[in-house]
Amino acid sequence: MTNLCNSKTQNLLPIEQANAKIRNQLQAITGNEKLSLNTALGRTLQKSVLARYNYPFNDVSSMDGYALNTQGINPIQPFQLTCCGTSWAGKPYPKTLSPNQCIRIFTGAVLPQGADSIIIQELVSVQETTITFPANPTLYDNIRFSGEDYKKGDLLLPVHKKLTAVDLSFLASAGIYEVSVYRQVNIAFFSTGDELTTVGQPLGSGKVFDSNRHALNGLLDDPCYNCTDLGRYADHYELLKKTLQDAANQYDVLITTGGASVGDADFIKDIMNEIGQIDFWKIAMKPGKPLAFGHINSTLFFGLPGNPVSVIATFQQIVEPALKQLAGLSPTKRLQLKAQCLTALKKTPGRKDFQRGILKQNDNGDLTVISSGQQGSHILSSISAANCYIILEAQCHSLPAGQWVTVEPFSCFIAE
Ligand code: AMP
Ligand code: MG
Repeated sequence: MTNLCNSKTQNLLPIEQANAKIRNQLQAITGNEKLSLNTALGRTLQKSVLARYNYPFNDVSSMDGYALNTQGINPIQPFQLTCCGTSWAGKPYPKTLSPNQCIRIFTGAVLPQGADSIIIQELVSVQETTITFPANPTLYDNIRFSGEDYKKGDLLLPVHKKLTAVDLSFLASAGIYEVSVYRQVNIAFFSTGDELTTVGQPLGSGKVFDSNRHALNGLLDDPCYNCTDLGRYADHYELLKKTLQDAANQYDVLITTGGASVGDADFIKDIMNEIGQIDFWKIAMKPGKPLAFGHINSTLFFGLPGNPVSVIATFQQIVEPALKQLAGLSPTKRLQLKAQCLTALKKTPGRKDFQRGILKQNDNGDLTVISSGQQGSHILSSISAANCYIILEAQCHSLPAGQWVTVEPFSCFIAE
């Protein structure tokens, strides 16, 4: 049995605890704005939305057919009624239907006063204005009743909901054209490292292209955030300190990558101790052990590791839930499923692994997963090829092929 209390795994903070520590220190930002539906997609409701009307607004027809007043009719025999007008969608029949009268009616058209049933057109025969109805038709049918969906004053959407395209359609249908949403969270990020070259510039000796800023730029693409890429900075104490101080005056959140370990060129911890407060954690997750979380005045700070796959994983697992909380969203969790893993997986006990995998589903709906390749925290090719994480709990050892594992899809679409 492996001893989990060896020096490598000692003092590691389980990811769930890291998230809880952050969550307990945060609350949604203050400040809201009113937006028209056209600009509100993806934003977070800062107030619940209540119905201004009953919906449907009126009793309306759900089919093309005939609306009848069936009082006095004995429907065990076929029966005939005179058609005395039409109710069109948007152009109602203005009079009350008396017993033994019917009108032509179309889908979405208002049911006139006195009508109690709608019989679909396929069941009737028409001779000029005389309509013959079959015996025993279903009465009181094909009517959408006013308020059957919701009534005036009912809750339509709760506070803290992220507005989807469906929600916007729903609100528009309810006559609501403006919503109160949380203001955007102002987020800035930058990369640190003497070795970094901005992509597009010539690669100097011993240098690497700065990929982390491009990861963050994409990962932060959300209408709830207003993001600024502050560029890349050398490992220079005074320069980094000034950059962090200046940025803290302008943004709600700062995210850096690199320089958050304890190497000679890793200054983030010392700078943050000088200008703010910082917790420096070794998270029990792989990839992504070192992570700094703190404040400069009221600005939140996340210091992510330098390795590109660690940046992506720690952002998704730790930073993103915090940003959502700040943006006013109700808590969500990532969908996890069970899949049979068709490849053997290497794992050292001690940290929770987020291995990169390729999830497939056959025509029966069965899920299988394979490793997407090399699992180093510098290997972007295998996370690019992946469509899910294979999550292995901290205490788990290497697994032979054929085991059932937990997977966390990157999105709801997978290749056919
Ligand atoms: P550090 O955390 O600064 O020690 O960096 C760990 C590893 O990640 C080193 O190999 C760095 O070169 C690499 N790295 C750091 N920042 C970036 C970046 N922005 N883009 C690509 N690789 C990086
Ligand atoms: Mg570095």
